[in-house]
Amino acid sequence: MEKKIAVLSGDGIGPEVMIEAIKVLKKIEEKFGHSFQLTEANIGGAGIDNEGKALPEKTIEVCEEADAVLFGSVGGPKWENLPPNEQPERGALLPLRKHFNLYANLRPAKIFNGLQAASPLRADIVGDGFDFLVVRELTGGAYFGEKGSDETSAWDLMKYSVSEIERIVRVAFQSAKTRASATGKTAKVCSVDKANVLSSSVLWRKVTNEIHQSEFPEIELEHLYVDNAAMQLLTRPRDFDVIVTENLFGDILSDESAQISGSIGMLASASLSDGGFGLYEPSGGSAPDIQGMGIANPIAQILSLSLLLQHSFGLTDEAKAIENAIQSVLDDGLRTGDIMSDGMKKVGTVEMGDAICEKI
Ligand code: NAD
Repeated sequence: MEKKIAVLSGDGIGPEVMIEAIKVLKKIEEKFGHSFQLTEANIGGAGIDNEGKALPEKTIEVCEEADAVLFGSVGGPKWENLPPNEQPERGALLPLRKHFNLYANLRPAKIFNGLQAASPLRADIVGDGFDFLVVRELTGGAYFGEKGSDETSAWDLMKYSVSEIERIVRVAFQSAKTRASATGKTAKVCSVDKANVLSSSVLWRKVTNEIHQSEFPEIELEHLYVDNAAMQLLTRPRDFDVIVTENLFGDILSDESAQISGSIGMLASASLSDGGFGLYEPSGGSAPDIQGMGIANPIAQILSLSLLLQHSFGLTDEAKAIENAIQSVLDDGLRTGDIMSDGMKKVGTVEMGDAICEKI
């Protein structure tokens, strides 16, 4: 396979962990016989310093020409005093999501074997770990609906169209199908809404049922009210496979899921538009406190690459090879500082990247 990838390393630890992800990509190319053309471009603080703005036009062009975007992270103290709309995160990431209509946000919540103790949940609840995916609608609902205020009140309209719901639940069902074919487990989708109170949720549930019946009848579907879902995640996280929900509920549930998974250095995310295009990034930020120290955990960036191969290029085996290599390195006892525990071997960013490459 031949594909083009835009590489936007950004600021802080972004460039350090991106080098490791690219090393892993080269290894995948070699082992599976693919050819990926990489084009680097400035973003965030690096965009401001080198080209005068957080999202330079040239960077948009590079992304437009690419089949997918591998993103590091942006921001840091150097740019914190700029006007809000010119700052790295607000000036780069949000316009990029809007420009490419990245309406589906995917956040895997997974505990790798050996890292169960990193979860704040009780050991009997975590068991041997959990592995589920939160699919959040990213461009609709109350965050994008009509807003207003007068002297005594303020409002944000939570509005969803049938087509907005259809496309996001399709992503969820499709993801469940892909995950099941990789693991051999039953494909399950849990749709989260508040259909006992909100009209938009009544429509959400109706459309979800219709798409389920007409296009994905073989996949198990359950519905949960959002307040119940927030509790169930804490008591039975191992029962979930794919969770799909609207923007506001997804914002909260995806952070809850990240928190119960343990270290931010292990969590990746994908933001997808139609036709397979997507932007893939670690869930954490640019970690300026550890920049340049060689101790950042590169696994979140490497898992972002694995998501890219799976969702934009359909390379499930290659994605699985990366995840297996990470598990194998963890089984060998290698740990970066953020996931370190007694009896393990502490390694830096480069050593962790090299070890993962070796396993592939
Ligand atoms: P952060 O995620 O950068 O850091 C929080 C803590 O987690 C820090 O102690 C950091 O050292 C640690 N951490 C994060 N990633 C790690 C990794 N891979 N390995 C080891 N430790 C890791 O969040 P913050 O401190 O709130 O934000 C720092 C900067 O990042 C800010 O400028 C913020 O605006 C920006 N930010 C960017 C993004 C993005 O690019 N998508 C997201 C969040 C924050």
